[in-house]
Amino acid sequence: MSGMNKQGRPTSLAGTGSGGTRETFTGNRALHLEEPILFELDNPGACGVDLDEPEEFAPRLGNFARAGRIGLPSVSEPEVVRHFVRLSSKNYSIDAGLYPLGSCTMKHNPRLNEKMARLPGLGDVHPLQPVKTVQGALELMHELSHWLKELTGMPAVALSPKAGAHGELCGMMAIRAALIARGEDETRSRVLVPESAHGTNPATAALLGYKVDAIPATKEGRVDLEAFKAKLGPDVAAIMLTNPNTCGLFERDIIDIADAVHEAGAYFYCDGANFNAIVGRVRPGDLGVDAMHINLHKTFSTPHGGGGPGAGPVVFSEALAPFAPLPYVVHDKDGFRLVETEGDAKADGTNPFGRMVAFHGQMGMFVRALAYMMSHGSDGLRQVAEDAVLNANYVLASLKEDFSAPFEGPCMHEALFDDRFLKGTGVETLDFAKAMIDEGYHPMTMYFPLVVHGAMLIEPTETESKQSVDLFIATMKDLARAAKSNDKDRFTGAPYMAPRRRLDETGAARKPVLRWAPPAPKQAAE
Ligand SMILES: *Cc1c(COP(=O)(O)O)cnc(C)c1O
Repeated sequence: MSGMNKQGRPTSLAGTGSGGTRETFTGNRALHLEEPILFELDNPGACGVDLDEPEEFAPRLGNFARAGRIGLPSVSEPEVVRHFVRLSSKNYSIDAGLYPLGSCTMKHNPRLNEKMARLPGLGDVHPLQPVKTVQGALELMHELSHWLKELTGMPAVALSPKAGAHGELCGMMAIRAALIARGEDETRSRVLVPESAHGTNPATAALLGYKVDAIPATKEGRVDLEAFKAKLGPDVAAIMLTNPNTCGLFERDIIDIADAVHEAGAYFYCDGANFNAIVGRVRPGDLGVDAMHINLHKTFSTPHGGGGPGAGPVVFSEALAPFAPLPYVVHDKDGFRLVETEGDAKADGTNPFGRMVAFHGQMGMFVRALAYMMSHGSDGLRQVAEDAVLNANYVLASLKEDFSAPFEGPCMHEALFDDRFLKGTGVETLDFAKAMIDEGYHPMTMYFPLVVHGAMLIEPTETESKQSVDLFIATMKDLARAAKSNDKDRFTGAPYMAPRRRLDETGAARKPVLRWAPPAPKQAAE
């Protein structure tokens, strides 16, 4: 479908409604520069550094010495710089525009955080440095722990998990350790997970060998309390619940749910990825939560996307605190120290289930998150939640007429729509998302949560201005109108303007090409 220009590069202009097909010789489109992969740029002999040939070099590898090049590209420094700058300019980012990806809390990352993270004493710290040389770093971790415990009303925290999903694993491992200590590990084999849960919740439970039992949702998009109670029993280890849930709604029965879970002898794991909606306003510890991860990279800024970096500290209730993993920071009369071994822990009176990572976690994220907390203050953090909820409700109220909202009433920090408004248009949620790309927006989260057909989950976050949200709303309305007035081509062929059009995502997942091979030599030119 997409044409190739004289250089053998796909011409992304092909098929645009407005200007027809217009090819450029280079494949570049003004400032949209085409970029081959680094291997194609290979220029044997080019190098970014100037090293002397080693003298009288005799390899001692015997038969294992390499005989030829291993196929890594040779590229000069300016070519490497251009390569990565060009690629980076193809990335959409929160620094480029609104990023309404629901459940991901893509908010502005204050530059102050970056300045703090680059301070040499924090940026250059090494995990194997003697403890007496990293007192400041440990104090920072201690201070961050304090803020996390205050904000959640929970007595203990493990900082080391590296992301939300890793935090879930950590929390559930602490729950399992508590059950082992009670001698109930064998009998409690079931974990209850609401239908609307993020996929990482059932995956975590299954990874630990638990049987996942889905709790149905009510018509209002919340946990069905009666159905949930009916599922409780002596074989239940825990419930994993997200609050606010992934429909963007507060689980109003959460205290009843916690009470029932505890009465049944099970634990309450809360997925805290949506903490941005309630930070400074609600303390999960007051709701009866036993363990909850916090995505520092969502609620407390710190850049994320493209797979990292992140940090997923886990807060624990009194019941689970003794089982929290190694290492952790202790402050006593001799200063700050790390409890690193089972022996240290025994002396300290705790019973950790083990450790999650080799070292201490993501130091850079700790610095950014603490800088974020301290610069906002407790009043500022409360306002974060209020403004995030306000922005989402503004989107919900503004789009309600043109879109279709599956649930009644106001939302928390994200607005959920389904695809009923697209019925009969021939446009699906996926096409709608692709058309948003042509408009310069990263699409919202789509087809999640699964309980809603063709879901579109929009989270504007508190850091978008009213002008920015207004333009987004106007764009979304324009697209909805176009879909309903038979302008199907605008959607089903989208994106027209992106450097690449629709990719074969299934093919890429099923048959990934993981290794570059030089192209077959071209036939001699006529
Ligand atoms: C983001 C998210 C997770 C997973 O967090 P990662 O840091 O991406 O591992 C889990 N649950 C919910 C509801 C989320 O939004």
